[in-house]
Amino acid sequence: MPDFSLELNEDQLQIQKWVHDFAENVVRPVAHEWDEREETPWPIIEEAAKIGLYSIDFVANAFGDPTGLTIPVVMEEMCWGDAGIALAILGTTLGVAGLLANGTPDQVAEWMPQCFGTPDKIQIAAFGVSEPDAGSDVSSLRSRAVYDEAKDEWVLNGTKTWITNGGIADVHVLVLSVDPELGSRGHASFIVPPGTPGIRQGQKFQKMGIRASHTAEVVLEDCRVPGSCLLGGKEKLDARLARAREGKSSKVQAAMATFESTRPAVGAQAIGIARAAYEFALDYAKERKQFGRAIIENQAIAFKLADMKMHIDAARLLVWRAAWMGRNGKAFESGEGSMSKLYAGETAVWVTEQAIQILGGYGYIREYPVERWHRDSKIYTIFEGTSEIQRLVIARAISGVHIP
Ligand SMILES: Cc1cc2nc3c(=O)[nH]c(=O)nc-3n(C[C@H](O)[C@H](O)[C@H](O)COP(=O)(O)OP(=O)(O)OC[C@H]3O[C@@H](n4cnc5c(N)ncnc54)[C@H](O)[C@@H]3O)c2cc1C
Repeated sequence: MPDFSLELNEDQLQIQKWVHDFAENVVRPVAHEWDEREETPWPIIEEAAKIGLYSIDFVANAFGDPTGLTIPVVMEEMCWGDAGIALAILGTTLGVAGLLANGTPDQVAEWMPQCFGTPDKIQIAAFGVSEPDAGSDVSSLRSRAVYDEAKDEWVLNGTKTWITNGGIADVHVLVLSVDPELGSRGHASFIVPPGTPGIRQGQKFQKMGIRASHTAEVVLEDCRVPGSCLLGGKEKLDARLARAREGKSSKVQAAMATFESTRPAVGAQAIGIARAAYEFALDYAKERKQFGRAIIENQAIAFKLADMKMHIDAARLLVWRAAWMGRNGKAFESGEGSMSKLYAGETAVWVTEQAIQILGGYGYIREYPVERWHRDSKIYTIFEGTSEIQRLVIARAISGVHIP
């Protein structure tokens, strides 16, 4: 066995092919339809559940891969199929990541199955941090969780915004402030179980891209959850708050812990979109004739395609490195997780725009998928930390300077 290899192993190759077949045969044919409908594609989530792709077992197996590469491989193939539908299927994993990042083993065992439901009765999950006045600056969350000791219940109030699966999820994992004076060190994560009174969907947003993925406000009005819904438990929270009040350093904050672990996976989604656009543009450039020759015979077009492929491959290497590091407990000393998401997101925006240019007028009309890929790609420089915030993380990590 060589000490180092960039080849996927047999298991990973098999999973890659299985997910690719699903993306090609089930997702792609309906991508345009669900983009136009701008609704959650329940029948496609059901199909994914039927074959076991939307299931606790599959996600647990993928998370368990010691190389860390299965998750990005799956994400890339799904988003090669369609990012909106992929996010409708995979949005649940963001809630799951929030649960895994902060939950006790008992909480994980109780809530993981509830996040997925069964193939006969699908359930979905959401993860909510963002608020109208707290996007990049998560330290300024206004939503509050107050402990009612007499009843051993937490009372949740506030509004979350831009939440994937928000309000339609069965299980909401929400980050709220338990002590506003402590900023992000006073945050805690809570499970809101299915059917809890006091939680409802606010506005549903109409979007530029990833339109098959539901994005909405989540409104909390005296929403009471049992004490056991505080992820990590009260004892641990009290100890953490006490440390923060004494001014001692606390562990990574609730929301940050989740984003840290999910960034390479989000980068992999962007690569899937970029690859779809690149492949389409390459085929098109070989077929389309102008001035009596295929347009790829012009260096202006051929070099674009060369650059597109190069950036996609570079992005994938950054994503795989960060995924491997995250899974193997390596410290992101240079912000490698942020680097992977930043580069992949910006690559996807750039590659899909080049693809439109290569298709000319056909790139701009909805009959062809390329304009949709461009619209879908743009979210990857915004959510899970904007490109500017990723640069901030990297700059702070490499310099040790607290750049504001
Ligand atoms: C489709 C969609 C799905 C989403 N899903 C979820 C979800 O499931 N859960 C969730 O919690 N959130 C979700 N979000 C929210 C998303 O994470 C935020 O939109 C994102 O973090 C940016 O916050 P903001 O929109 O408030 O922008 P702002 O923070 O207001 O930023 C505006 C601009 O200012 C820049 N900026 C801000 N601060 C700085 C700084 N210090 N230095 C330099 N530039 C700066 C930003 O980079 C950006 O360009 C989703 C958003 C969208 C659009």
